[in-house]
Amino acid sequence: MKVFFNTFGCKTNQYDSALLGQSLERSGFELTGKLEQADWVVVNTCSVTKRGEDKACQWVRKVGREFPGVGIAVVGCSVEVSAGRFRELEGVGLLLGTEEKFRLGEVLRERLERINGSGPALEEQRGRIGLTGKYEGREILSAHAERARAFVKIQDGCDNRCTYCIVPYARGRSRSRPWEQIVAEARALEEAGHYEAVLTGIHIGGYGRDLAGRPSLSVLVEKVLAATDRIRLRLSSVEATEVDSRLIELLSRELRLCRHLHLPLQHGSASVLARMGRKYNPEEYKAALDRVLDSLGHPGLGTDVIAGFPGESEKEFEECFNYIAALPFTYLHVFPYSPRPGTPAALLAGRPPVAAVRERVRRMRELSKKKQENFLKEQLGSRLSVLHESRLSSGVSVCRADNYVRAYHRGASPAGGFILVAERTWRDGVWGRLEC
Ligand code: SF4
Repeated sequence: MKVFFNTFGCKTNQYDSALLGQSLERSGFELTGKLEQADWVVVNTCSVTKRGEDKACQWVRKVGREFPGVGIAVVGCSVEVSAGRFRELEGVGLLLGTEEKFRLGEVLRERLERINGSGPALEEQRGRIGLTGKYEGREILSAHAERARAFVKIQDGCDNRCTYCIVPYARGRSRSRPWEQIVAEARALEEAGHYEAVLTGIHIGGYGRDLAGRPSLSVLVEKVLAATDRIRLRLSSVEATEVDSRLIELLSRELRLCRHLHLPLQHGSASVLARMGRKYNPEEYKAALDRVLDSLGHPGLGTDVIAGFPGESEKEFEECFNYIAALPFTYLHVFPYSPRPGTPAALLAGRPPVAAVRERVRRMRELSKKKQENFLKEQLGSRLSVLHESRLSSGVSVCRADNYVRAYHRGASPAGGFILVAERTWRDGVWGRLEC
């Protein structure tokens, strides 16, 4: 039985799909990268934005239309919060929620073992997410196919309630994975030949609060570094106010901990942050950032920004723009506000006109481009610690530096981490030469 995966959304979803694929293979299914060969298709969905969900819907419709007879299993976040959008679509035979998706192998096997296809055409299982207070134990991921950088999930869910965010409704309360499992997984991925592991989750800054002894994120990082030899670690998105002094100290001295932080801001105006329900104001965010910069100089520094939040006035947008312009971010992820049914913000009035939002997004992305270009220029002449990622058809190697800069060089890359000396800016990165 051949299974094809299509995964939408975040690193945590990519990790979940990799784990699902591994457990399907271990229970006798075969994974295929070719849709036309598939007997079943698994769509791991994302509900953070309407656009992300629309894309998954469109894709499911396409499969149902072009591959009649292929079974479609829709799993994950959108099944928890918008199952109705998928239930009637042609070919959909399984709807499994955020926790239930990990029973995919079992459910598919039960289905196949049913005599003559008896039983309901559509099976739906979801809602356990609301009942789960603990991180459910699962097998560890032993390899991350086709990925230079492996993801290691350390936590799921979130206890915050930012007013625009659907994630807590889709993924439930914050649940930390036992650190022993994470250490074992990082070791397994290192043995499998991965040179980088991205510690990911939904709210990684809250790691350990629900575990005995409350091991913090920095304690976890120390444990993984102590238990591994050469794999480097990268942190996925973490709240700026949750980067503690121990983590900053580790970032400043551990060469195997990437000098790259993604610290979601969402907005730079105090009044909008308050309406978003974010747990800091611009001064507190800046103070947290200054603590990082005082120790790390100018690391790779990304953030998320939402434009067009309900009630966002021209003045509030300019406040946000100027606030961000003054901070040493090296790139911005800019999103137009997307109302998610069931979130408090979706009920707020005063959404700015579409044209105004489009213009605000355009300006923020332009600012991001400038910041990225400035940071690339800062790299010239410096020695970058990089890992190979891929090759262009021209044979040029594409690499990623620990500070998240993309770096290119001629010819093949040595295995593992190596040094490139940045010579000039090139494409969306720098052109470098191997240090002999
Ligand atoms: S911290 Fe806020 S934005 Fe992030 S997942 Fe939690 S509720 Fe959503």
